[in-house]
Amino acid sequence: MTNSNENHYNVIIIGSGPAGLTAAVYNGRANLRTIVFEGNQPGGQLTITTEVENYPGFPTGILGPELMDNMRKQVHRFGVTTVFQDVTDVDFTARPFRIASGDVQYTADAVIIATGASAKLLNLPTEKKFMGYGVSACATCDGFFFKNQEILVVGGGDTAMEEANYLTRFASKVTVIHRRDSFRASKIMVDRVKSNSKISFLFDSAVEEVLGLEDGMKRSMTGAKIRNLKTNQITEVTATGLFIAIGHEPNTQIFKGKIDLDEKGYLLTQPGTSRTNIPGVFAAGDVADAVYRQAITAAGTGCMAAIDAERFLESEGH
Ligand code: FAD
Ligand code: NAP
Repeated sequence: MTNSNENHYNVIIIGSGPAGLTAAVYNGRANLRTIVFEGNQPGGQLTITTEVENYPGFPTGILGPELMDNMRKQVHRFGVTTVFQDVTDVDFTARPFRIASGDVQYTADAVIIATGASAKLLNLPTEKKFMGYGVSACATCDGFFFKNQEILVVGGGDTAMEEANYLTRFASKVTVIHRRDSFRASKIMVDRVKSNSKISFLFDSAVEEVLGLEDGMKRSMTGAKIRNLKTNQITEVTATGLFIAIGHEPNTQIFKGKIDLDEKGYLLTQPGTSRTNIPGVFAAGDVADAVYRQAITAAGTGCMAAIDAERFLESEGH
């Protein structure tokens, strides 16, 4: 194990999505010795999407990877170190806090957790291929691109119902595909969807394959193969969009038993702040937000976490 003063930071930020990088801009500008562990998805979830049209400041939109590249450059301008490494273990029982990345130990006066959440996916090779080119895990983000088009939504929970309803603002037709014949979603949400004339249903069904066209770097979805799970019969449906709404998972595996999480694994923060139950450890972005899950809210809470960390360090005489 390596442990030297060189590996001591005022603030260690875990995660490099909009939350972690925004926190890094603020802590860097406050002259705090700061390091960002970028993890295995440098730039976070926006790096797997194409156009982002609802992040303020970009009137004609911006590509997700470009937005995150800009944020990383802004972080470097203020002297923050970023490393393409995963944090593999944390020890919050004593100060300075101890953070491990493989065999290397780091210590920190304050820690900001911004490890995000991952949308659960179907794990089909074709789903990956058409992600951002028809396949999406976020109706609020991408619904606008499907004006007057026919789209599919997978899932039978409240999210799927909410997204199906929301998508009818844009789409000409929405088909909800669910693996069972009864919904997990609350009755009120199901009733709302059932009374929407633009929405139809395929029960006991699963997406087998996403179909589409490829021309060099250009890709576009044209439909999907659907398997009826009772009869095993396969049918092809035409659609230009597929929204996967089968739940999210916060990336908190390494924090289990070490900090307070809610029953679904999201980090708990004190209302109106980024403070966790451990003084000096703060949380920002999707890892502590099962509700909004947007880049701008992640960036906003990243700013809160950085300011909370600065005030904490000041109060501790750093
Ligand atoms: P994330 O972006 O999830 O980043 C988490 C970071 O933590 C990653 O860098 C990861 O590598 C790192 N990490 C995880 N575990 C570890 C670890 N153990 N050690 C070190 N690092 C770790 N929102 C919008 O506002 N507009 C959109 O148009 C939009 N489009 C989207 C399209 C898609 C396909 C998806 C999936 C999401 C979209 N969103 C959009 C939602 C938006 O991307 C998220 O709300 C936002 O990225 C959350 O930011 P975050 O910083 O909390 O976490
Ligand atoms: P969820 O309740 O866990 O539902 C996930 C749905 O996806 C289930 O219907 C599940 O099917 C299906 N599913 C899971 N894995 C699948 C797979 N691999 N292939 C196909 N289908 C799969 O998740 P959620 O809908 O995201 O909701 C999460 C929480 O947020 C819930 O507590 C919900 O009430 C809440 N929420 C509330 C609102 C609201 O009130 N406005 C809105 C959104 C979310 P099975 O049913 O067969 O398991």
